Amino acid sequence: MLNVKALKRHFAEQLKALKFGADFACAKLSGEYPVKFFGVRYSSAAYLECERVQAPVGERCARCDEPIAENDDGWLIPYLGTAADPRELAYHRACHLRGIVGSVAHQQGRCSCFVPGSIFEDDPALTARQAAEAAEAYFEAHLNGPLN
Ligand SMILES: [Zn+2]
Ligand SMILES: [Zn+2]
Repeated sequence: MLNVKALKRHFAEQLKALKFGADFACAKLSGEYPVKFFGVRYSSAAYLECERVQAPVGERCARCDEPIAENDDGWLIPYLGTAADPRELAYHRACHLRGIVGSVAHQQGRCSCFVPGSIFEDDPALTARQAAEAAEAYFEAHLNGPLN
C-alpha cells in the first residue's frame, strides 16, 4: 500500500528544491536510496545527477497504475514504506511531474487550494495518465521558466 504521508513529505522536499532552481531533490536522495530514471535523458539538472536504468517493464506506475512500457520515460523513486513494500516506486515522467506541479486546474489556480469549494482538479474525462500528460504539457508551456 502507498504510504501517503511519506509521499507527501517526498513531494514537499521536491517542491522546495524546485523553488531553489533544482528540478528534484536528487542530491538529498542520493547515496543509499538514489533516485534513478529510465528512458530519455532530458535537459534538467536532475538528469545529470541521476543514474539511468532499464525501464521496469510491466511494473505499474505508482500514480496512474498503468504498466511501464519499454519506451516509456520515467523515474524510480525511493519508497520508505514498511519492510514488505517495494524499496522504490516506478512513475511515468508525466505522472511524477503531476505529483509535483499538480493538475492543470491547480497550476491555473482554479482548484480548491485557491478557490474554496472548487471541484476543479484533473479533467474527469481523462484517464489518470492522460491528466498527468496534460499537467506536464501545461507546466512545460506556461510555468517551466526561470524563477528569478
Ligand atoms: Zn503513470
Ligand atoms: Zn490545488
